[in-house]
Amino acid sequence: MFLLLCVCLSAALLDSDAQDRASLWRANDRSGRCQYTFTVPSPSEASCPQPAPAGGPEMEGLKARLSLLEVLVARLTGGETTGVPGGPASQTGLQEALAVAVGERSLLQGEKERLEREVEAMQRRVEDISRETERLRSRCPSQMLPPKPPLQDGSMRPSSGSSVLSHLVSRPVSQGDSGSLRDPSWEFSSQGFQELKAEVTEVPAPSPESSVDSTGCGELVSVGEPVLHRRTDTIAGKYGVWMQDPEASAPYGPEMVWRIDTVGSEVRQLFGYEDMQQFSRGFPSKVLLLPEPVESTGATLFRGSLYYQRRRSRTILRYDLASESIAARRDLPHAGFHGQFPYSWGGYTDVDLGVDEQGLWAVYSTNKAKGAIVLSLLDPHSLEVRRSWETGIRKNSVANAFMICGRLYTVASYTSPNTTVNHAYDTASGQGKAVAVPFKNKYRYNSMIDYNPAQRKLFAWDNFHIVSYDVRLGRPQAN
Ligand code: CA
Repeated sequence: MFLLLCVCLSAALLDSDAQDRASLWRANDRSGRCQYTFTVPSPSEASCPQPAPAGGPEMEGLKARLSLLEVLVARLTGGETTGVPGGPASQTGLQEALAVAVGERSLLQGEKERLEREVEAMQRRVEDISRETERLRSRCPSQMLPPKPPLQDGSMRPSSGSSVLSHLVSRPVSQGDSGSLRDPSWEFSSQGFQELKAEVTEVPAPSPESSVDSTGCGELVSVGEPVLHRRTDTIAGKYGVWMQDPEASAPYGPEMVWRIDTVGSEVRQLFGYEDMQQFSRGFPSKVLLLPEPVESTGATLFRGSLYYQRRRSRTILRYDLASESIAARRDLPHAGFHGQFPYSWGGYTDVDLGVDEQGLWAVYSTNKAKGAIVLSLLDPHSLEVRRSWETGIRKNSVANAFMICGRLYTVASYTSPNTTVNHAYDTASGQGKAVAVPFKNKYRYNSMIDYNPAQRKLFAWDNFHIVSYDVRLGRPQAN
C-alpha cells in the first residue's frame, strides 16, 4: 500500500511530463488481478476535455490493494483461526513445550543439589574412616614394628658388668671425660641454660593394651591424655619439675604442690602451693631458698624431704622441708653428671630421682655401664644405695624414665606428639622387654616425667605446660 501511494504521488508530480508522452499504469483490481492502463497524448486536443471520473483505474487499484491488506491484517490480528502459522494453536504448543522444558530444568537442578549433598556426605565419611584408621593404627602397631636387634631393644640385663654393652656408646669414655658425650649445643651452658639438644628417638609403635583393670600394682598398660594444670608465664618456666609428696608429713599436707623452675645455672628456689587450685592460679604460699643449687629436672619429694642432685656433682641431697635444711648428702657411686649421661633431651638430666610404691629410686649411668641406664634403690634416710640394676637401655636414646611398682619405664621421644613408652625393666626379675604404650607430648618438649604413687599419675613438664597423665596398671595381653 505504501508503494502504491508513492506511485500515485510520483504520478502527480510527473503529471506535466505525462501530458507530453505516453504512460503506463499497472494496478490490481478488486478480484486481485493485475490491471494495466495506457495514457497517450491526443494529437487534436491539448488535454482531456473532462476530468477523469471518480474511481478511475488508479483509485480502483488502490482500493483493491487496501482490501487485500485489510484481509491480511485481520488474519494477523486473529480474525481467522484456520491454518495460519504463528496463530494461537501454535502459541499454545510453544507454551506447552516451554513449560515442559522449565519443569525438566527444575528436576535437573534438584538432582544436582541431591548429588552435591551426597558428595559432601561421602567426604565426611572418608574423613571419619581416615580418623578411625589412624586410631586403629595407633592401637595396633605391632605389625608395623621393624625387626628388633636382639641387644639394643629387646635385651636388658641385670647389673653384671658384661662387656656386651660396649656397642651402646660410639666412643670410649674415660673417667671424668664428660665432654666425649656432649653434642654441639654444649655452648648453651655458658649462657646459664641447662638444656642440651640431642637426637630424638622415634618409636611410633604402641602395642595392644590390656582390658584388665588394676586394683593394685601391675604393669603399665596405658597412659591417658595429658591434663593441663598450669601454663608458666616466663622463659624461666620453659622446663622444670613439679611434685606432690606421696607420703607427706607435717607441716605440709598431701595437697601441697611443689615446683622448681630449672632454667638457669643457679637454681635454688622451691615454690610451695597449698593445693592444685592455688598451683593452677600461680599463687605460692611458700618460697624456700635451697642452701645448695639444683641440677636439672630430676628432683623428687618423699616423706617430707626434697631429694635432688647438687649442681655439677654426683651428690644427692636430702633437704628436710620441716627444718628447711640439708638432712643428708651422699655421692651416687660412679654416677655421671653435668652432661655425661643425660637423656636425649639433654639438660644435664644425668641423675633422675623418683618414687614409686617400693621407695626412692635413682636413674643414672656410669662409665662402667658405658651409657646404659643404671637403676638404684636408695635408703630414703641415709641415701645409701641398697641395690643396683644395670638395664642395658642406652640412657641418651630415651627421653625420660619413671618407676612404677618396681618397674622402670622409658619414653622414646620428648618432642614427638605421639610417642611411646618403649622399654620396661622389672627389678623383681632383672628382665627387661620392649613395650609400646602410647604416650603424648602434646606441647612437644617434655623435659620431666615422674610417677606419683599416691595419685597414680604421671607428672610432667612439657614446654611451659605443667601436665599430668592418668595411668592404668594391670596385666598386659600375652604377646
Ligand atoms: Ca623422671
